[in-house]
Amino acid sequence: MTRPLTRRQFLKISAATFGAAAAASELRPIAQAVAADAPAAKGVTATPTFCEMCFWRCGGIAYVRDGRLWKFEGNPLDPQSRGRLCPRGTGAVGSYYDPDRLRKPLIRKGERGKEQWQTASWDEALGFIAERMNKIKEQYGPESVAMFNHGIGVRFIQHVLKSWGAINFAGPSFAQCRGPRDVGFALTFGTGLGSPEPTDIANTDCLVLIGSHLGENMHNSQVQEFAQAVERRIPIIVVDPRFSVAASKAKYWLPIRPGTDLALILAWCNVLVNEGRYDKAFVDKYGKGFDKFVQEIRQYTPQWAEAETDIKAETIRATALEMANARPAVIVHPGRRVNWYGDDSQRSRAVALLNALLGNWGRKGGLFSQAGIKVAGYPLSPYPQSGKPPADNPNRERYPFADEAVTTGIRDATLTGKPYPIKGWFVYSSNIVQALPNQAETLKAIDALDLLVVIDTVPSEIAGYADVVLPEVTFLERYDELLAGWGRRGWIALRQPVMPAPHDQKPGWWIAKQLAAKLGIPESMPFDDIEQYLRARIEKSGYDWDKLKREGIIMGPKQPTTVEEGLELSFETPSGKVEFYSEQLKARGFDPVPKYKRHSTAPDGYFRLITGRAPVHTFSRTQSNPLLGDAMRENEIWVNGATAKKLGLANGQYVRLKNQDGVVSNRVRVKATQRIRPDTVYMVYGFGHTNPMRKSAYLKGASAAQLTTRYETDPLMGGTSIHSNFVTFVKEA
Ligand code: SF4
Repeated sequence: MTRPLTRRQFLKISAATFGAAAAASELRPIAQAVAADAPAAKGVTATPTFCEMCFWRCGGIAYVRDGRLWKFEGNPLDPQSRGRLCPRGTGAVGSYYDPDRLRKPLIRKGERGKEQWQTASWDEALGFIAERMNKIKEQYGPESVAMFNHGIGVRFIQHVLKSWGAINFAGPSFAQCRGPRDVGFALTFGTGLGSPEPTDIANTDCLVLIGSHLGENMHNSQVQEFAQAVERRIPIIVVDPRFSVAASKAKYWLPIRPGTDLALILAWCNVLVNEGRYDKAFVDKYGKGFDKFVQEIRQYTPQWAEAETDIKAETIRATALEMANARPAVIVHPGRRVNWYGDDSQRSRAVALLNALLGNWGRKGGLFSQAGIKVAGYPLSPYPQSGKPPADNPNRERYPFADEAVTTGIRDATLTGKPYPIKGWFVYSSNIVQALPNQAETLKAIDALDLLVVIDTVPSEIAGYADVVLPEVTFLERYDELLAGWGRRGWIALRQPVMPAPHDQKPGWWIAKQLAAKLGIPESMPFDDIEQYLRARIEKSGYDWDKLKREGIIMGPKQPTTVEEGLELSFETPSGKVEFYSEQLKARGFDPVPKYKRHSTAPDGYFRLITGRAPVHTFSRTQSNPLLGDAMRENEIWVNGATAKKLGLANGQYVRLKNQDGVVSNRVRVKATQRIRPDTVYMVYGFGHTNPMRKSAYLKGASAAQLTTRYETDPLMGGTSIHSNFVTFVKEA
């Protein structure tokens, strides 16, 4: 009999990665958790594929032993994993055996949200969807069907919807995550940063993390380089109201008052300029508007910033000089999920300007220039032209610097019917009830829909409100679109099936092809199966398909990515320079140099709620995964030890949280600790599931999203803040 991967083995593998979390109970025999009908072939097979447990897309090798999925390890050829996976990647085995997986298509039979379903065949479910789509098209036009999505698996379904005439597609990865950062950097350097961020941590001599908790957020290759940086004993500066894992490795921990990060960044700029410690040669050669920038930042002295940030002026100066001593091999990390307070693209622009003062753009040990790889396309028909603008941000009038669609803009259009009605939503692998702020607004928008289709592997909260739920196979059971990655070298990665689907789940490309046929546009998917499509693209690009299948990775040619390697710097801003003073911001009525403005403060008896990630979970996707769920079943609310004592809260005690608008959370355990400021509380987001179909995660911990009723919207690009809410404690009787 095949033995399942044990928890001990799992943690042993995970421990190879810096910051792996260990936790409580014994692992259940997961291979028995589903009635998988996989043929029990004898022996071990190894198949390279790439991980979808998060967006980092590390290459791995999946091993099947005697017909059972055995383990998933890093692919040594892959630049993202470098032969090692993070705990979630290793735990991907558990996603295959997740007992809560969706198994068959479901069609709602009762009131929306009441979770009454009938199972359906794929033919029935897709026929139902096509009929509703065509009704919406007849009455409102195809633009009135929108999509929310996350991940590479959506490509073919998105392609079919575009071929049918849909134009509104948005992912929370922009407005609820990295969007403000990319806009802030694009306004300064002419280009956003993309994913993975081009941080040369391997060669840096000083690393600054502002709210970024590497080691708890497991961006694999970055965390590996961070671990090496710790070993090299370089100065690390961590700015965080919480003593994070990263802070515990740092030379300086700056426990900043939440909401005042911009004051600190501007004060750092002030020190570098006032003391002549910036990179004058870089600024003279590439900068534009530097004198006006200097005039603006003169007011932001360290003494002024001390009162705002609660960080001593001498510490602000000392840390600025640490950065200056290391330049250009210094990184002020741009962060990733940076939508905190609603002025985030301006704060990110200030981070970009600080990096510019340090002259690290395109430098070894700084922010390198990403290399890509070209992959030939497949001949497909062009999409129909629409006479309507995108619904979220018509003609960029609402958010002039948003270069991707804004999720809440589509939600607003659904609520208001303006600029035109949105009557259908497809939601692919994105739990937008948890991802978007203010759940009440999302649920109200859903009420206005004639069709809600959810495509996922597990039943998320949004699935509970769907008209049709389509069960997709996990990434370990499917081909997807090719990954053409950007990094120190470009690379192509192949996702390919390792195991058969255990039930009636299907891959995205198959769903797309069947839906295209039902919609009367089969020509939009002009290939028999996806292998034919992928092989054609690879061979047309001059690469070897069989080798890619065998090795999982094709590396692109070496190109210069730093000045040290011969890179010539150029900037795609309107001036062709690094814009210290932005005329395009000024022209649209925004501050041409970031200005500090205070954010609202907590009412008496309330604490600012900030949120973050755990090393064993991704968003709200992994809590029912048997391996990862056993490693962390529920979240905790971190509260300062002295505050807890004053409030009579004991460590481990269950409480509920009530926010400033009276919304009360599910119960959550108190973690009383000196590792957080007294005015702040912290929790990992993604917990507190309310869909009863998610049995093992149902009502485990509290949902940060539920408490995010209040949010600020970034006027430049539509990002929505997540750290604008305050909570107090409600004791359990
Ligand atoms: S960082 Fe971890 S979860 Fe994300 S892709 Fe890599 S191994 Fe998978």
